[in-house]
Amino acid sequence: MPPTKDVDKNATDHLVEKYIEENDVMIFSKTWCPYCTKIKNALKSAKIEFYSIELDKMAEGDDIQEALIKKTEQETVPNIFIKQQHIGGCDKTLAALKSGRVAALLSPPEPEAKHQKLEDDALDSYDYDLIVIGGGSGGLACSKEAQSFGKKVCVLDFVKPTPIGTTWGLGGTCVNVGCIPKKLMHQAALIGEYAQDATDYGWAQLEQARQHNWSKMIESIQMYIRSLNFKYRVDLRSKGVVYENSYGEFVSPHRLKITDKKGQSKEITGEKIVVAVGGRPKYPDIEGDKQYGITSDDLFSLKYDPGKTIVVGASYVALECAGFLHGIGREVQVFVRSILLRGFDQQMASKIGDYMSAIGIKFSHQTVPIRLECLEEGKPGKLRLHYRQTLESGEVKESYEDCNTVLFAIGREACTNELHMDKIGFDLKKANGYKIKTREEQSTQIPWLYAIGDCIDDETMPPGQPLELTPVAIQAGQLLARRLFSDSSLKMNYYNVATTVFTPIEYGAIGYSEEDALSKFGEENIDIFHSEFVPLEWSICHHREQVKNMSYCKLIVEKKTDRVIGFHVLAPNAGEITQGYAVGMRLGATKADFDMTVGIHPTCSENITTLSVTKSSGESATQEGC
Ligand code: FAD
Ligand code: NDP
Repeated sequence: MPPTKDVDKNATDHLVEKYIEENDVMIFSKTWCPYCTKIKNALKSAKIEFYSIELDKMAEGDDIQEALIKKTEQETVPNIFIKQQHIGGCDKTLAALKSGRVAALLSPPEPEAKHQKLEDDALDSYDYDLIVIGGGSGGLACSKEAQSFGKKVCVLDFVKPTPIGTTWGLGGTCVNVGCIPKKLMHQAALIGEYAQDATDYGWAQLEQARQHNWSKMIESIQMYIRSLNFKYRVDLRSKGVVYENSYGEFVSPHRLKITDKKGQSKEITGEKIVVAVGGRPKYPDIEGDKQYGITSDDLFSLKYDPGKTIVVGASYVALECAGFLHGIGREVQVFVRSILLRGFDQQMASKIGDYMSAIGIKFSHQTVPIRLECLEEGKPGKLRLHYRQTLESGEVKESYEDCNTVLFAIGREACTNELHMDKIGFDLKKANGYKIKTREEQSTQIPWLYAIGDCIDDETMPPGQPLELTPVAIQAGQLLARRLFSDSSLKMNYYNVATTVFTPIEYGAIGYSEEDALSKFGEENIDIFHSEFVPLEWSICHHREQVKNMSYCKLIVEKKTDRVIGFHVLAPNAGEITQGYAVGMRLGATKADFDMTVGIHPTCSENITTLSVTKSSGESATQEGC
């Protein structure tokens, strides 16, 4: 229906609001638009009443469209609102119809029926249908999805400063101190390499490009991160999710005490609570670690050039940070306690080590730090890291290495131990360290409590793979919200999750490592196809001479079914390559499917579609030319 009350004709914003307020399903449409017709027909078939206006037939149509763009950032029609919530265009509304979101919005649960099936410790009423503790990748995704079903949602996010005082804004690890700044710094390093390639491609010496300015890089990256922090806050506000920049802890079932940075506290209650508190870096618990050392939580916003850096640790974070620090011209040494990239295919891990050594990164194997002392204060200062190393002979030696910065990258700890979960009868110690043990539905032993993201240990995850990854947290959060608040039953599948380690040469992996495949299926039941190849773009670059043969790919195939159960590629842009193949692996692609896929020439990725040499054949895996 058109707005009931008189409205000032000039106040188009107000007019738009009235249309949205007074119609449960409001469509801003144009007569000639096929998508407008499509969605109207779909709503009619679903027997859902709607009201639409045709902007191309109204004198004020253009003004209304402008007001809609301002409100929704959507420039096209149909522009659809259901129960005052912006849904989007035709496709998003069709998806909302399919997922049950439209039905959930139009028929919210009866207030009196709402708490029918609550457990013994239920309250009479709650401030929120859902409280999410932690506004990182998983928490934000879950809270926004829950709100889209018309639920009253609050998300808490609070960052405790690091020992040297670093802190950051809304969005969690990925945006502030993880994937985003890491990938941008990886890119900074790659640009340095391209600058070296340039002369062979006919460009004048780009020596200046080799002089890297740490502060400029930090400034650009931090400015971008701040813009993301702002966008997330605005997004929550515009969607109607309540954001509290406060630390949450349980005081009793369904009830949290939340404390802001001024130390002011209040209590809030939630019918359902999702814990999405992520993790923070560990320290090795040696003298001087927190006083003089830093972690990835500090590195990405470090105000001063780190200079010569010792990286302690040998997994994802350590190798990626060591890689980009070296790439932007800093001296780097990596202290490896045992092996590189525990849990990953060890042939690939050792190839990464070989590559990083070949480009000049030093590795000290079987080495652990024992004391960190400061020789000279400064930014950076001079530090001395005392260490213990077990030599190949078995002899243990103690020595030290001087540097400007020590970066501890020795793993992460779930932020669960200060949530006071004992107050709701949840014994964390019983659940694999401090991680929250979850079942397939991200549910816990407590019926109204759920957990997602880096802080969980889900019983359906592949053994030994914690899958602490942003897209995993996001998908688990969205699926959980859909299951909780609509008729969706789709569960998170932790198998065949693709991942990439952004080392100087990237490594992409999906599915089984060679070791795991051998132990699960037996050597006689699998074939391993592999190839060593030269990325074409490197073939004319003199500075790559030593490493140009080090790109490699392998497929692990179960003989009985011909299914590809392991995918591994070490190559430039392996992240981009691997994502596409992940779809094939999800669909159960066989080796024959890979072979029948016509390659794109000339790319690194095409090598994966032409693999014919098996490891067991003993033939050379080196590709020559095209
Ligand atoms: P987080 O994003 O950590 O969010 C949790 C939030 O909760 C934080 O903001 C925290 O401060 C807050 N919080 C904690 N306790 C409370 C409380 N009691 N009250 C209120 N708020 C609280 N993954 C990838 O997929 N690709 C990558 O390339 C990648 N690179 C990475 C690089 C680094 C250096 C690191 C450290 C991680 C990287 N990851 C990467 C992993 C990825 O960042 C995490 O898997 C992801 O951020 C986990 O999301 P989450 O929602 O579980 O937790
Ligand atoms: P991990 O737990 O994967 O690795 C910890 C590393 O530190 C291991 O090499 C371990 O050695 C070593 N270590 C542990 N304690 C000590 C010690 N006291 N002294 C010396 N070395 C020690 O942690 P990360 O922080 O690297 O990664 C955490 C998670 O973050 C990963 O599981 C990953 O899911 C996610 N991540 C994802 C990225 C991506 O997708 N590209 C990038 C970065 C992180 P040992 O093997 O001997 O135990």
